[in-house]
Amino acid sequence: MPRSGQILENALEAVGNTPLIRLSKIAQHEGLKCNLLGKVEYMSAGGSVKDRIAKAMVEAAEKEGKLIPGKSVVIEPTSGNTGIGLAMACAIKGYSVIITLPNKMSLEKEASLRALGAEVVRTPTEAAWDSPESHIGVALTLQKEIPYGIILDQYRNLNNPLAHELTTGPEIIEAVTITPSTAARPSSGKVDVMIASAGTGGTVTGIARAIKKTHNPDCIVVAVDPIGSVLALPETLNTDNGIPYVVEGIGYDFIPEVLSREPGLIDSWLKTSDEQAFEAVRVLMRTEGLLVGGSSGSALTATMRWLKETKEGRRIAQTEGANVVILLPDGIRNYMSKPWFLKMTMEAEPSPLAGVIAKIMKPA
Ligand code: PMP
Repeated sequence: MPRSGQILENALEAVGNTPLIRLSKIAQHEGLKCNLLGKVEYMSAGGSVKDRIAKAMVEAAEKEGKLIPGKSVVIEPTSGNTGIGLAMACAIKGYSVIITLPNKMSLEKEASLRALGAEVVRTPTEAAWDSPESHIGVALTLQKEIPYGIILDQYRNLNNPLAHELTTGPEIIEAVTITPSTAARPSSGKVDVMIASAGTGGTVTGIARAIKKTHNPDCIVVAVDPIGSVLALPETLNTDNGIPYVVEGIGYDFIPEVLSREPGLIDSWLKTSDEQAFEAVRVLMRTEGLLVGGSSGSALTATMRWLKETKEGRRIAQTEGANVVILLPDGIRNYMSKPWFLKMTMEAEPSPLAGVIAKIMKPA
């Protein structure tokens, strides 16, 4: 559905339909001949790629008669963004919401959740996923005790990857297909490489399914997992299991069912560090003007490493018109109180212009 030119019925109709934006400064700086394209998901109504699955899971549950307005209490363990999408959908549709959120997740996410009317229960970040104290364990306890409590369960719900197979993937394919190849901007007309960071794995598997089934079976799909998480394959990549990391929304201490159902869709995995991710966020903000969050940095830094360090990547990097699409899941406004963000902005070295301003502003 187009976003402009017509009145939308509610905010849920402004979920998705996000732009695919050329990252030309970065491509030029890195000496790439391929096109580097960012799918910018913070422009969705709730501010992240997870709006799509929240909307899909709620609408599917409604169709199945599982939700009763005024009675149902939607309970969901999440790193925040799925919660924000659910709280937005439920505010519109009249369901109560409880979100269980590990302590490490930002204050901004909790504030957005509360603003949308959700209750938020914080849980210890270090609790193992299958312990009663984890965000998953607490959600299960609440569901047992609360009448009309329902967990839509993004870790298992088929509508999670399906939402991306039906929306995110086709939007990317359409943008790449309809944009003409010109002498100035050559294009293969295909998605040649798709890169996305993984939490539940719904985004990467759903998009991969859409691209490989309907568009380009030879597309190379690369998934990104933070150091400290166990999602990557082969398992030998996961050398530092359990080491805490700051970047939010990606990686787990277990393999979600959504991901384990279709591991074959992902051609290769890369591990990334917080430092690499945050530096890449800075580059995306400063050179492309994109206000993206931490996991977008993970995706960009992984992309650069894949293009430089693998044989296939080096070939693609030097192929005129090859399209490399990077999924950028959420925005920096989710993270503005985080020390890593303050360090790169409010506490950064003053620029030369700051000295000029200080001189002008000095009282005579
Ligand atoms: N980045 C952010 C900021 C997220 O919130 C999520 C969802 N947890 C992801 C990436 C990964 O998305 P998915 O769960 O679809 O793998």
